[in-house]
Amino acid sequence: MATIRASCDTCGDVEFPTSEVNVHAPEDGGPGTYAFRCPRCSATVVRSAERPIMDLLIAAGVPSTTWRRPAELVERDGAVTVPFTHSDLLDFHALVSDDDALADALAGLVDVQPDDESAWDR
Ligand SMILES: [Zn+2]
Repeated sequence: MATIRASCDTCGDVEFPTSEVNVHAPEDGGPGTYAFRCPRCSATVVRSAERPIMDLLIAAGVPSTTWRRPAELVERDGAVTVPFTHSDLLDFHALVSDDDALADALAGLVDVQPDDESAWDR
C-alpha cells in the first residue's frame, strides 16, 4: 500500500497509508478537498486540492467520493452577477405583499396551479 506524506497544522509533516485519506471531488472536475486523520494527534485535517492532486491520490488508491456543486455556485462562475439593490428589495416586498402574485410565483416554483387546492394538502 502506498504511503502519503502531508502536513498537519500541529505536527508538521506526517506519513500515513492511502487508506487513511479520503478525496472529495466535485463532479464538474474543479478543485475539491482531501481529508486525513493525523497519525500523531488524531486531528482531522482537510486540505483543498486542485484536480491533478486529487487524480494522483485516486490513482494511488485513495478512496474518493464525488459531489455536485450547488447550482448557485455554478451559475456564479460564468454569469455576470448584479448586486442586489434597495430597488430589488422594494420589488420583493411588493411581491410578497400581493397574495395573488406570491401564489403565482410559488406555483411556478413547484409546478402547481393555485386553484388546484388538493395539491396544497400533500
Ligand atoms: Zn497532527
